Amino acid sequence: MRDLSNLPLDLLRRAIERIENARLAYDPHHIVRFAAISKYASIAQIAELYACGQRAFGENKVQDLAQKSENLAALPIEWHFVGRIQSNKIGKLLDLRPALIHSIASLAQARQIDDRLAKIGCDQRALLQINSAREAEKSGVLPEVATQEYMAILESCPRIKLEGVMTIGSHSGEKSDVIKSFEITRDIFDRLPNATTLSMGMSGDYELAIKNGANLLRLGSILFNAE
Ligand SMILES: *Cc1c(COP(=O)(O)O)cnc(C)c1O
Repeated sequence: MRDLSNLPLDLLRRAIERIENARLAYDPHHIVRFAAISKYASIAQIAELYACGQRAFGENKVQDLAQKSENLAALPIEWHFVGRIQSNKIGKLLDLRPALIHSIASLAQARQIDDRLAKIGCDQRALLQINSAREAEKSGVLPEVATQEYMAILESCPRIKLEGVMTIGSHSGEKSDVIKSFEITRDIFDRLPNATTLSMGMSGDYELAIKNGANLLRLGSILFNAE
């Protein structure tokens, strides 16, 4: 009988088992990583999941990233930033030295980030967010300009180490819309020079994302909440 406990280790194991099945069905040579998105989790919950072996965590608010990463500074956690980037928080975000920013939303924003990086003398790994479902409430570049914006960031923002793209699957509730948003993003990703990271897939759609080539998932509720 399956163990359906909600202990952190069991939630983690069940997620990894499902990821592994989807990955093997897609391509046994495909490597999939995931960041545990801890925006609704407490510091104690993050520490518990860390104790189960999870090393990559992500936040969507600069203030929360600051607070949690400072509280957990003793642990060698790889912190990701996945949220909307406000101009007035760029300095604070970059000072936190996240391992990867998933959510650069435009060339103009990339230039602001690059200027700041020049001032502090740092490089920053990042992804360009694509608004693949064309949803007004989501940030990111539209698919038809994504390649052009990506190339312009590569050319004009030398301190940003751009390594791929991120998208949030359609919120419409229709599986076919989610698939379409992943396909659109994957198509762009495949045509970019030297792009290695395709960040897509959340708790409700990560198996579909893997089926469409995702290699970095962002999992929140399935890792932290009882279902
Ligand atoms: C919250 C969040 C996630 C995780 O969402 P779940 O559905 O809880 O897995 C992933 N990506 C971004 C950008 C988020 O804000």
